[in-house]
Amino acid sequence: MGPMKWSQTLIPTSRQVPAEAVVPSHQLMLRAGLIRSIGAGLYDYLPLGWRVLQRVMNIVREEMNDAGASELLMPALIPIEFYADTRRDVDYGDNLFRLTDRHGRSAALGPTHEEVITELMKAYVTSYRQLPLNLYQIQTKYRDEFRPRFGVLRCREFLMKDAYSFHVEVDGPGGLNETYDRMYAAYCRIFDRCGLDYSIVEAESGPIGGSASHEFMCNSPVGEDTILKSDKGNYAANVEKCAIGDRPHDLSGAPTGERTKVHTPNLPGIEGVSDFLKVKPSRMLKTIVWPWRAGERNGWVIAVVCGHHDVNEAKVRDILRDQVDRSLTLQTEGSEGAARAAGFAIGYVSPSAAIGRSACVVIADPDAAQGGFWATGADEMDHHVNHFNWKREVLDKGVQVHVADIRNAMDGDPSPLNDGGVLRASKGIEVGHVFKLGTKYSDAMGFAVLDEKQQKRSVIMGCYGIGIGRIIASAIEMNHDENGIVWPAPIAPYDVIITPIKYEGEAREVTDRLESQISQAGLDVLVDDRDERPGPKFKDADLIGIPIRLTIGDKALAQGCVEVVKRDGSLGKGEMVRIEEVVSRCRSSR
Ligand code: ATP
Ligand code: MG
Repeated sequence: MGPMKWSQTLIPTSRQVPAEAVVPSHQLMLRAGLIRSIGAGLYDYLPLGWRVLQRVMNIVREEMNDAGASELLMPALIPIEFYADTRRDVDYGDNLFRLTDRHGRSAALGPTHEEVITELMKAYVTSYRQLPLNLYQIQTKYRDEFRPRFGVLRCREFLMKDAYSFHVEVDGPGGLNETYDRMYAAYCRIFDRCGLDYSIVEAESGPIGGSASHEFMCNSPVGEDTILKSDKGNYAANVEKCAIGDRPHDLSGAPTGERTKVHTPNLPGIEGVSDFLKVKPSRMLKTIVWPWRAGERNGWVIAVVCGHHDVNEAKVRDILRDQVDRSLTLQTEGSEGAARAAGFAIGYVSPSAAIGRSACVVIADPDAAQGGFWATGADEMDHHVNHFNWKREVLDKGVQVHVADIRNAMDGDPSPLNDGGVLRASKGIEVGHVFKLGTKYSDAMGFAVLDEKQQKRSVIMGCYGIGIGRIIASAIEMNHDENGIVWPAPIAPYDVIITPIKYEGEAREVTDRLESQISQAGLDVLVDDRDERPGPKFKDADLIGIPIRLTIGDKALAQGCVEVVKRDGSLGKGEMVRIEEVVSRCRSSR
C-alpha cells in the first residue's frame, strides 16, 4: 500500500480513556484513532483502522480462494419478497432493519444472504453437473442489535465474510461434508494468521437454522458467549448447545413431610423465595410452561429444573420432538401470556399443574428428578409449598414424567462423552461460524436440480460466516499491554514506523532513504514526520502498536546506526543496528 507520512494522514490518537468504552479493544481502537462512533453501533474506520481491515480481508480472501470458494458481491438492500418463502423476516424479528422505498415497496437491509444467493443459484443451476459450488462475499451487513456495545464487537453495520456452498450429496467427493471440512480448516488458518487464541465449539444454529454447526470462539473474558470444554480436551460446546453427561435420577423417593403451603407475597425470583423459605435454590424446583402445537392439536409442556439451574429452550424443543412425539413443536412466542390465560399461575407453577390437564407433557431435568426435600410453587398466586414429593404429588396422580437433560450446562458438570471428563466454563467472542444448513433454504425456495437419473433433488447447503471487524477487536483483546496495541504482524496497519527524533538534517535524509528502501522491500512503513517532542511520538508509536520502530537520533547516527525497537518487547529497550543492515533486519523480523 506504499509508505505514508504521519502528517499526511489522519491518526487522531488520544491519551484519554473514552468514558463510553468499557472493554480494552474498544478503548484502544478509539484511542489509537482506528475508529470513531457516529451513532449507536455505527463506526467510521479511519485510515489506520481501514488498513487493518484490508489486511484481515486479504487473509480471508486468500484462504477462501485457496479453499475453492469464488468471490461475488450481492446488494445489502433486499426486497422483502425474498423472505416470503423462508419467513426469516419474521424469525429475525426486530434485529432485521426494514425500510420502505418511494414507491411504497418494503425492503430489508441484509443480516445475511441465504435467500439472495439461493435465488441466484436457482436462476442458473439446474443440473447436478453444475455442483458443488462455493460462493462468498465480503460485504456490509445490518442488524438492529438490541444492545450494540463493545465497539465493533457488536455493532449494527459491520463487514462480514459470508460463504454459501451447494451440493447434491452430504457425503463423498463434492458433498457438503467435504466442503464443510475444507472451510473449517480454512477458518483455522485465518484465525491463526490473525494472531487469535480460539476454541472451536459445537453450536446451536439459531434463526439461520440447519443441522450441525461449529463456532470459532476467541478465548477472552470480554466474550458474550459462555463456552464449556471438557477437561479431557475432547469436547467443547456453546452453552446454548452443550449437552451434559448421564446423571442418575429417582422419582420414587419417599416424602420428607406433609406438603405445606406457605404465603410468599411480593417475592420476585428464586433468590427472594429462597431467602424467605430458608431453602437453598438447589432444593427448589423451577418450572417453565410453553404451549406445543401439532396441526390442530395443542397442549402444554411443563419443564422442570432446579432453582439454581437454567432451562435450555433448544433442549426442551429437541426432547419434545425426539423423545415425546415427532409431530409436536414448541411455541415460544407469547407463551407466558398464553399460559396465564390458560390458568397457569405463572411464577408459582409446580409439576402438579399437569394434573387433570390432558395433553400436558412434564419434562424434568435429572437433577430435579430426585427424592428428598423440595420446595416449589403452589399453583396459586403468591404461594409456595414445602415437602413437594414427585411420587405423591405427580406420579401417583397418573401424570407421566419424562426425565431428560433440559438445562444449561455449568462449570463442573460431567462431560456428555461420559468418559469422566468435567466441563469447564469460560467466555468466548464468536468470530466465525460454519453451518451445515441441509435443505432448509432450498426446500423453502424450491431450489432443486436433476441428478444423473433425471430425478429432482433438493440442493444441500452449507453457510459460513466471519465477522471481519470482530477479528480486529478480538486480536486487540488478546494482544495489548498498558501502553497500547501490540499488533500480530500479519494484520498490523504498518510493518514499520520510523520515528526521527527531529525530522531534519541527516536524520531526515536517513529517514527518507530507509522509508523508500523498506517499502521497496515490500513492507508498509509509516514515518512520524511530526514536529513533536520524542516522548509523545514514542507513546503514540506504542499506542498504535506497529511491530517495528526505528528511532533515528543523532547519537546513533554518529555511529552509523539506528535504534530498532520491537513492540512486543522481544528486543528489550532496543538494539543499535547498522543503517545498511536495517532493511534486512526489518524483513527478517516481520
Ligand atoms: P451473535 O451470536 O454474536 O449475535 P450471530 O451468531 O448472530 O452472532 P452469525 O449470524 O453467525 O452471527 O454471523 C456470522 C459472524 O458475523 C459472527 O460469527 C460474528 O463474527 C459476526 N457478527 C454477527 N453479529 C455481529 C455484530 N452485531 N457486530 C459485529 N459482528 C457480528
Ligand atoms: Mg453465529
